[in-house]
Amino acid sequence: MPTPPLAGGPTGPTALRPLLHTVLDALHTGATHRAGPLPAGGPEAVAAHVTQTLGNPLPDHGTGAEEALTTLTTLITAGAADPADPHCAAHLHCPPLALATAADLAASALNPSMDSWDQAPAASTLETLVTRALAAEIYPHATTATTHPDALVTTGGTEANQLALLLAREHHGPVRLLTGDNAHHSLHRAAWLLGLPTPVTLPAPGGTLDPAALDRALTDLPGPHLVAATAGTTDAGLIDPLPEIADICDHHHTRLHIDAAYGGPLLFSPTRRGRLTGLDRAHTVTLDLHKLGWQPVAAGLLAVRDPADTTPLGHHADYLNADDDTDAGLPDLLGRSLRTTRRPDILKTAVTLRALGRTGLGTLVDTVCHLADQLADAVQKHPALELYDRPAISTVLFRPTHTTDTQLADIRRQLLHQGRAVLGRAQLDGRLWLKATLLNPHTTAHDLTTLLDTITSTGNPPHPPVEPAEGTTTP
Ligand SMILES: *Cc1c(COP(=O)(O)O)cnc(C)c1O
Repeated sequence: MPTPPLAGGPTGPTALRPLLHTVLDALHTGATHRAGPLPAGGPEAVAAHVTQTLGNPLPDHGTGAEEALTTLTTLITAGAADPADPHCAAHLHCPPLALATAADLAASALNPSMDSWDQAPAASTLETLVTRALAAEIYPHATTATTHPDALVTTGGTEANQLALLLAREHHGPVRLLTGDNAHHSLHRAAWLLGLPTPVTLPAPGGTLDPAALDRALTDLPGPHLVAATAGTTDAGLIDPLPEIADICDHHHTRLHIDAAYGGPLLFSPTRRGRLTGLDRAHTVTLDLHKLGWQPVAAGLLAVRDPADTTPLGHHADYLNADDDTDAGLPDLLGRSLRTTRRPDILKTAVTLRALGRTGLGTLVDTVCHLADQLADAVQKHPALELYDRPAISTVLFRPTHTTDTQLADIRRQLLHQGRAVLGRAQLDGRLWLKATLLNPHTTAHDLTTLLDTITSTGNPPHPPVEPAEGTTTP
């Protein structure tokens, strides 16, 4: 076999072009073959098909680029849970924009690595400029003549939350984390990973952190503390009362982190950004553009109001940031992440921001929020469905009436098994709910109707609302 061509350099595109045609054809074939949001048959059938098609993952002699790309791209496409299908609406799993995906191809072809300037000369400047612009969006009033807010690129909300806890610990010592019971699990994991005191979980009645409980906890428990509020909860898409929480933190001189992994992009919408009032009072803010930002994974950020807070991440490795190189003007990038080799994930985001502008992104945000309102309306009007609450962002929770939690969980799995719909689940107010996270701006009102029809026609025949008590015999 001749030496396979490379993706970069002046001849890279020539080598890539026919391969891309192959991949695009396979994406088309696979999606047509699936004809639904996910493959039918459930885990065993899908695993058997993948195992059989793949055969030996490392054959002695390869099949060549054309065959390998066709077979495996078709396989993974036909077997995908595709968020571009309107009935795939779980986990804040977003359909990436074509333009962002195309930009990601360029990132792969060039393969800059963001750990030293000599691996990413232009990409590192691009990252600096775009992260500063996004940080300024979150902290519009924090720029002064001598300092400007900054943002660190992460693999997602999990890594951003970890960094937030790490920076708090480096600043204040072993902080005790206080969160609502609506907070993302990654915050607790980060506290565990960093060896911090056991976090305190506060009540979140109705789905948002109770400020009075927070005030009491900060009064009663010895510090140092870190409060983490949420703007866009994973379960219900609710926003904690940020101004009140920020006031309480000010009163107790406590550091505040806001996990806006989901809700952060409301900032782009002129009519919805007001819901994030108070966001800029946090010391750090998590943002995930692979949710309400339509980026391919990964596109996380941790915005930091005072860039001096990131100093503890500074690190020295002679082969990446030798002092004399830094003195001679080569930018030192190592302190911008805990990772070393790192993809230029900022490129796709930079392309998206430039192509759509704030207005274009805001319109996308408004579109999916409006779809959530429409779905909530349809649920409320439906005689066989019950709505949890009006959506705050683009998450709608609902359930068929007269259904037990066990039956509801079974309906969700049946839909997955039949390849008909991907919905999430959430336990709230002591009951289980189906969760639709609407992130597809191409979804239509008709798609929402057919989604509800699919759900109501699935599962067990309607059961009487009252189950016979234990021990009684049914005639
Ligand atoms: C999704 C989510 C996270 C985790 O983000 P990943 O990108 O999955 O690591 C953290 N916090 C909230 C509120 C989220 O919704």
